[in-house]
Amino acid sequence: MRSLDTFAAGKLHALEERALRRELLETTGGRGGVSRRGGRALVCFSGNDTLGLAHHPHVVTRAREALERYGAGAGASRLVTGNHPLYAALERALAEWRGTEAALVFGSGFLLNAGVIPALAGREDVVILDELAHASLHTGARLTRGAVLTFRHNDAEDLAVVLERERARHGRCLVVTEGVFSMDGDRAPLAALSDLAVAHDAWLLVDDAHGFGVLARGRGSVVAAEEESARALEVPLQVGTLSKAAGSYGGFLCASRVVVELLKSRARSLVYSTGLPPAVVAAGLAAVEVMAQEPERCERPLLLATRFCERTRLPAPASPVVPVVIGDARAALLASRQLEEEGFLVAAIRPPTVPEGTARLRLTFSAAHTDDDVDRLATVLRPLLSPAASGA
Ligand SMILES: *Cc1c(COP(=O)(O)O)cnc(C)c1O
Repeated sequence: MRSLDTFAAGKLHALEERALRRELLETTGGRGGVSRRGGRALVCFSGNDTLGLAHHPHVVTRAREALERYGAGAGASRLVTGNHPLYAALERALAEWRGTEAALVFGSGFLLNAGVIPALAGREDVVILDELAHASLHTGARLTRGAVLTFRHNDAEDLAVVLERERARHGRCLVVTEGVFSMDGDRAPLAALSDLAVAHDAWLLVDDAHGFGVLARGRGSVVAAEEESARALEVPLQVGTLSKAAGSYGGFLCASRVVVELLKSRARSLVYSTGLPPAVVAAGLAAVEVMAQEPERCERPLLLATRFCERTRLPAPASPVVPVVIGDARAALLASRQLEEEGFLVAAIRPPTVPEGTARLRLTFSAAHTDDDVDRLATVLRPLLSPAASGA
């Protein structure tokens, strides 16, 4: 065998031993939160199409119109000839939705984080991340080639300690967190983090991939935190994705006009990557329109998550992402298979996506689910959650 194949086979074997090998399973997402896998229809509680917009008639129609009018692909980087007119409309809509001066759309949320962070910080600088921040944020931080530090999850006091100890030793400083944490569903203490960033001349980046479209009638975590603290917060870098609640694809940054202008010249993942297909941009724009017209759709996922947690006696959720931590990766896989037998698609999330020993079922609630879907899931999961109560 060639050494490359030997290497790959060895690595795969080691992953398999630890129940950490991953597979791509053929799945089609359908209407009403129902997915098809292995010839079966399953109610899906693992997707991120939180508002059920991937199949919304307005979104699909706009995408189809753009496909026919502008063709299948953008043809080049946005900076060359790939900047079709739908981009300007989408960026205007996003900036208005979030209340910032400007917005900039990237190929995906991952590409955005891998491009924006190293465009704003370099070798002399420091990036300080929440320890549970998404892999794309860690990737962007490493690409700065500067110092990369973490603070304890959602712990503003620990961030204060890190800033006091480290801030003066570096040039620019970025503090990075998520609005709603993708694997735990909890929310960052944005008011406290923002105040600390201001006090230490640091720039706060909030990745709101899971808050956009859901919290504060869809406006996201920053607006929710501002409403709760009854004041404006300084969050100069607000990241979102069109790949989740918007049901389409693509990442976006809401920021000041001058920052957006700089990134058009300096974010390598924007400059050196082809623009999004026009139909994808059209779908994103249509999704933001639906969010604005249907605030009750934006509120429904959290209401359903709350209903589920009441029925299973879990703590009240902060977002439509509800983790059921099992611990062992093999046990999480087994629980996932049991749910599949019952007609539910709930993926097991294993390390390194989550810390070692915290493999889990990660439930996501969607406006596409019915009350009955949620109640049936609660009935099936209840014994798994509290073995004592079920007499096991
Ligand atoms: C999903 C996610 C991303 C990646 O976004 P894509 O558009 O899917 O590439 C980035 N950050 C966070 C916090 C996410 O949850």
